[in-house]
Amino acid sequence: MNQTLTLALSKGRIFEETLPLLEAAGIVVTEDPEKSRKLILPTSDPAVRVVIVRASDVPTYVQYGAADFGVAGKDVLLEHGGEGLYQPIDLDIAKCRMSVAVPAGFDYASAVRQGARLRVATKYVNVAREHFAAKGVHVDLIKLYGSMELGPLVGLSDAIVDLVSTGSTLRANHLVEVEQIMEISSRLVVNRAALKTKREKLQPIVDAFDRASRPEK
Ligand code: ATP
Ligand code: MG
Repeated sequence: MNQTLTLALSKGRIFEETLPLLEAAGIVVTEDPEKSRKLILPTSDPAVRVVIVRASDVPTYVQYGAADFGVAGKDVLLEHGGEGLYQPIDLDIAKCRMSVAVPAGFDYASAVRQGARLRVATKYVNVAREHFAAKGVHVDLIKLYGSMELGPLVGLSDAIVDLVSTGSTLRANHLVEVEQIMEISSRLVVNRAALKTKREKLQPIVDAFDRASRPEK
């Protein structure tokens, strides 16, 4: 039986913060995606390879079985919907929060209280829709694919829903965080079929990720 495994990762913090978990499973990625143009990276284990994809595409690769497993942010998984994915572990990496931010000086509390329609620019339209619906706030959602911070600065929107960690990007753009919607971290996602057909190879890696992501246990 073919027990070759493909792991989907995105470049940047998810790749960097997954490396120690892979090492705990005895796997070393032997090329640096920031230096290499390769989209398929070999590892020290000939039966494991890494594919580098957009963060928001990780669940799709895993859902269709093009990757057997992957690491994706809760933000991405909520927007994707999680179809066809088994989510065994919160890896507790790439931590941040999803928040509402507005220009400094914008009276968010009274805008919300007065029941006016709020224009909100975000990449996370599903999470934002649910958040404001639960609060009974009427919103017009404007879908963006990046640089949400620009929206309020050029009159595209009143507010944004975006990920925040240190808040320095918000500050640099004179925005203030007015509401925290949820804590975000990255999760291991596994293709449901692969979990059965490749269990022998996959399960020990899942277990190693689990132990390494919870050093206290
Ligand atoms: P793409 O570049 O494909 O459009 P992206 O810009 O959202 O995606 P990254 O910025 O690399 O990709 O973020 C990848 C994941 O890392 C996000 O889905 C989120 O879970 C997490 N993340 C994003 N921003 C932060 C942050 N400021 N601090 C910590 N984790 C973050
Ligand atoms: Mg990016």
